[in-house]
Amino acid sequence: MNSGKKSKSNKLAILAVVAIVLVGGLFWLRKEAGGIHNALSVAYWYDRFFGLETYKPEVAYFMRGSRKHRDVCFTFDDGPHESSAAEILDALKNEGLHATFFVVGIRVKQHPELVKRMIDEGNEVGNHTQDHLRLDTLPIKNVRAEIENCATNIERACGRRPALLRPPGMRFKHDTLLLAKRMGYTTVGWNVGAKDFVPKASGQLTPEEIAEIHTTPDEVAQRVIDNVKPGEIILLHDNPVTARALPKMFAALKKDGYQIKTVTQMLAELDPPVIIDPDPVYKGKLTFPKSWPKYSSKT
Ligand SMILES: [Zn+2]
Repeated sequence: MNSGKKSKSNKLAILAVVAIVLVGGLFWLRKEAGGIHNALSVAYWYDRFFGLETYKPEVAYFMRGSRKHRDVCFTFDDGPHESSAAEILDALKNEGLHATFFVVGIRVKQHPELVKRMIDEGNEVGNHTQDHLRLDTLPIKNVRAEIENCATNIERACGRRPALLRPPGMRFKHDTLLLAKRMGYTTVGWNVGAKDFVPKASGQLTPEEIAEIHTTPDEVAQRVIDNVKPGEIILLHDNPVTARALPKMFAALKKDGYQIKTVTQMLAELDPPVIIDPDPVYKGKLTFPKSWPKYSSKT
């Protein structure tokens, strides 16, 4: 009787240990892979095993920098916002750092002077489309217009055409990447998010929208500091809470021995290096096929 009870409790103990190991393992995999989607994806682990998880040349898709260098890059999406872009630029300038800003065409039109300042101070400006629509919901000709219109506004603001693209919400189809590559772009993903976005912000942020961010500069800084690893691309947003989080983030990363680079610099550190033209000139009229070949990979 007693031994029966004992073997039952032994079985339960073994089951509990197995459950803890499984759950712990899943958490570890999730952290290691940068999300549950990747952790459960055979394609992700295949790419990772063969060292393809950093950059996909066939579609010019940059997913993360080399782990061999203790470098990270800062990307700021959705600006330029009058309420925060200048403060972000000041924070970068104070530390002698440069970042990559993925700007939205309609906002570039409202504040071209901020985009000019970004470039003048040595930062990079990437294309985040004209209207911040989800590209996977649009016909390909509209995707092209979204990218081109934003590029035109950037060129008018600072005299340069962008070479980097980040699709809004990282929502895209295979043909989006192929189209972008054909237009001279490298598409840039991200690995560490600070959850600092305003869900429905557009144009100038109102005090109500700022209140809606529901997070503090300290929390934003801590989320990045706790989760960053060498080679990662940090996603932040051009908003006042993030602007105020920067000094703490820069100090902590510096203390941890990190160097802050631009997307272009991180691409050049890959093996083999990816060198992009930071100021591409599109000569003549590009022609595009009606249908796009599929490539087999996760997106
Ligand atoms: Zn965005």
